[in-house]
Amino acid sequence: MQNSKEYDLIVAGAGMSGSLAAAMAAKQGLNVLLLDRNTPQEAGKKTNWGWVCGDAVAKSHLDFIKGHLGLEFSYPELEKKVRGVYALSPDLKSKFLFEGEGYVLNRPAFERKLLAKATKDGAECVHEFEVEGPIIEDGFVKGVFGRDRQHNQVRLRAKVTIDALGVATNLRRKLPENPYVDRQVSIDDVESTGRYICSFEPDHKDELFYDPDNALIHLNQELAPGGYGWVFPKEGNRVNIGLGVQRRSLEIRNKKLNKTDTLHTLIDNYIRSNPVVKNIKIDETDRNGKGYWSVAVRRQMESLVYNGYMGAGDSMAMPNPISAGGIGPALIAGILSGEAAVKAVRDNDFSVRGLWHYNLAFNEEYGKKTAGLEVFRIYLQSLNNDIINYGMRTFLSAKEAEDLSYGRVPKLSIASKFKMILKGASNVNAFANLLYVVKKMKALNGIYEGYPKDPSAFPQWKAMVLKEMEEAKERFQPNPI
Ligand SMILES: Cc1cc2nc3c(=O)[nH]c(=O)nc-3n(C[C@H](O)[C@H](O)[C@H](O)COP(=O)(O)OP(=O)(O)OC[C@H]3O[C@@H](n4cnc5c(N)ncnc54)[C@H](O)[C@@H]3O)c2cc1C
Repeated sequence: MQNSKEYDLIVAGAGMSGSLAAAMAAKQGLNVLLLDRNTPQEAGKKTNWGWVCGDAVAKSHLDFIKGHLGLEFSYPELEKKVRGVYALSPDLKSKFLFEGEGYVLNRPAFERKLLAKATKDGAECVHEFEVEGPIIEDGFVKGVFGRDRQHNQVRLRAKVTIDALGVATNLRRKLPENPYVDRQVSIDDVESTGRYICSFEPDHKDELFYDPDNALIHLNQELAPGGYGWVFPKEGNRVNIGLGVQRRSLEIRNKKLNKTDTLHTLIDNYIRSNPVVKNIKIDETDRNGKGYWSVAVRRQMESLVYNGYMGAGDSMAMPNPISAGGIGPALIAGILSGEAAVKAVRDNDFSVRGLWHYNLAFNEEYGKKTAGLEVFRIYLQSLNNDIINYGMRTFLSAKEAEDLSYGRVPKLSIASKFKMILKGASNVNAFANLLYVVKKMKALNGIYEGYPKDPSAFPQWKAMVLKEMEEAKERFQPNPI
């Protein structure tokens, strides 16, 4: 590795978003350096705990990669096909489709395939390199500094840098104070999560707890306050099983119930209470059996670009605010940021203005629905189990719930409104709040439809977003029990 060389593009992080960004840009002739702290065999491993994830991804996102990069997937990386992802109410009496056809991935194999593609397309990949921060000169990111395999301090320069370091990124956090990219994420917008990959002996058949053809999500504010539990089928009698919590909701729940549960005890309880998944054995293949990590569940950063800098995937808080599904947006952002780097090099403009089209492209492809979804998430976190049960049974049809989960604004049916009038005060209140949420989602969707075409209109636009979000946050406080 030469310190004096300047690359067209440095991609920091060879996870899902990073490997795709590198492949996309290298394929179109850019001189690309891809950096990651892992060995190639462990491409995309998030932490010492492994590739911590539920690993469920919709087929449509894989089709997006095929369309843009020509890369196709099959077994073994597509380990298990699922017909859909279902969300179950706490009393297990209502079940809504959340996401359509997709796969539960063999994540290490999937990531190795993405890295191989980046290498094949011509990216120079440097492994066991710890990125420590951005090189900042004259208000521009001009590359990164960090430590190589021998722990030598190294400075690497590039015309443009893509931050694909995941949720704990030390590039975004070390940007200069700027009006575009937030450097911090509120702890209330982060889920603490954990999961086991394990084999089990099925006790009996009960598709409310394990369904070999569908991924299951259990909404339950006692079991997973401010988040949810999941049972995703893998090949054979194996599952990816885990849960996520909002820390503040967990504290409130513990206080009210006089308990001292932690993420770890909640996961163990969740698995123990599953009547089908019995006698589990942690699967240590790739040392990826048991792990804990965080995921941000807010709208993505309002701007994904700064001078000389773009962000993709978890570094930009891209996961879906309700489902925490971040693979899809990471794949999309990887492709689009790689394409944007190519355009910036061609135009020789690495300023915020020169990179702005990436904001527009991501907003159009995925991002415009996320602010509305964040409001819906905040609302959900303010409901206790009884209200969620009642709401899923009466407020929403399956179609309306599906619309909400995709960030579309449903027309709530008149029938359900009438049913509501007959029931208790807390439910009436919750329904009134749902109508408020739907109104807010509509307003935010409208604001994102009008995403500024260039940076000059951005400050006013961001102020409108923040005003809507602050109102929603003030109205809904976590109230799990
Ligand atoms: C428990 C859990 C369950 C989830 N379940 C799902 C799910 O079922 N479906 C779904 O769609 N999404 C899920 N997600 C979210 C999904 O895993 C992420 O959105 C996705 O991995 C984001 O990819 P990424 O490329 O942005 O970042 P990452 O996957 O985090 O990759 C970042 C890469 O950068 C490297 N890196 C980080 N810091 C440095 C550094 N300083 N120097 C060098 N290298 C570094 C890492 O080692 C890694 O290789 C889940 C997340 C969690 C935590």
